[in-house]
Amino acid sequence: MRTHDRPAGAAGLSGFMSCGASPRDHHPVRRRRQRLLPSLALPRRLPDFPVLIEPPDLSAWRAGNNGIPGVIERDSGRPGPEITVVALTHGNEFAGAAAADRLLRDGLSPLCGILRVVFANMAAFERFDRRQPTASRFIAEDLNRVWSHDRLSHPPSSPEMARAIELLPIIERSDFLLDLHSMLWESSPLFISPQTERSITLAGLLSSQADTQFLTLTDLGHVGGSRLIEHQRFIAQPGSGRSVLLEAGQHWRPETVEISARVIRHFVENACFVHWGTRGEPGIAARQAVVTDNVVARSASFGFVSPFRGGHVIEKAGTVIALDGDDEICTPYDHCVLIMPNLCVRRGQLAVRLARRL
Ligand SMILES: [Zn+2]
Repeated sequence: MRTHDRPAGAAGLSGFMSCGASPRDHHPVRRRRQRLLPSLALPRRLPDFPVLIEPPDLSAWRAGNNGIPGVIERDSGRPGPEITVVALTHGNEFAGAAAADRLLRDGLSPLCGILRVVFANMAAFERFDRRQPTASRFIAEDLNRVWSHDRLSHPPSSPEMARAIELLPIIERSDFLLDLHSMLWESSPLFISPQTERSITLAGLLSSQADTQFLTLTDLGHVGGSRLIEHQRFIAQPGSGRSVLLEAGQHWRPETVEISARVIRHFVENACFVHWGTRGEPGIAARQAVVTDNVVARSASFGFVSPFRGGHVIEKAGTVIALDGDDEICTPYDHCVLIMPNLCVRRGQLAVRLARRL
């Protein structure tokens, strides 16, 4: 992880709750608290998140139609790319599954090549309980942390590893892959792409319509393990597989289903044009940002100074955004994007990621 824990520059900013660092790229993210600041009393336990959508009935897809349960294959009969839409990598994030279910029922199929829709962690999804809606993210381990060659080459030690190995032949054949996710806390939708030009271009394509112009984020990976979008197929250099992850909005809101559906349709409709190069590929996504810092709570009293929404932009470098024990957490540069702030973070957990617009 790159950190900005370097000495602050000399010139002071006098703005509201400024850390007093220079406007150059010298701002520390974390520094010893200088003075008393108002901190927001944030809940120490998770609030109740309303579940405003029904878990979809996926019984029609459970058996699958290509030999792997929960995998629906639609072959155009024409040459073209093999493209994959993955829903339910996290069992409680079913907005993407609801969208995929609806589109499949409406006859979603590729213009060329093969489309596969994967309902990944069906076992966790089937345990969804709206009284404990966050409990069914996975059964034994996070299915989105197991996609390294090392993990996949050992005998499965959990239901999620067994499922990953079962799905592997499909992942390894995917020319383009879209992984559908959603977020616990309110946040603007965004795309996450591996740091390869080809995947960033795919994210740019998916961002090319007004109703899908979300920030495209590249990041520092996940310390817990490799995500599906980071499978070797998609990050190998040289290589050709492209992947992108959609964080479509809050887990259980109707608009998250609608955004997921729009992106899936856009992905399926454009895959052939990208594959054959018959429609000019857009350049780098217009709204791209790179994660520079993962801020982990070091104290039990970590608290943001305001209930920030994901995607919020802090204009001034050196602005205090949170207090963590004796430390202040400051923005390291102007126009800093707060990625998925966790408003109820516990010690040792990731509180927020900071991203710089490119
Ligand atoms: Zn997720």
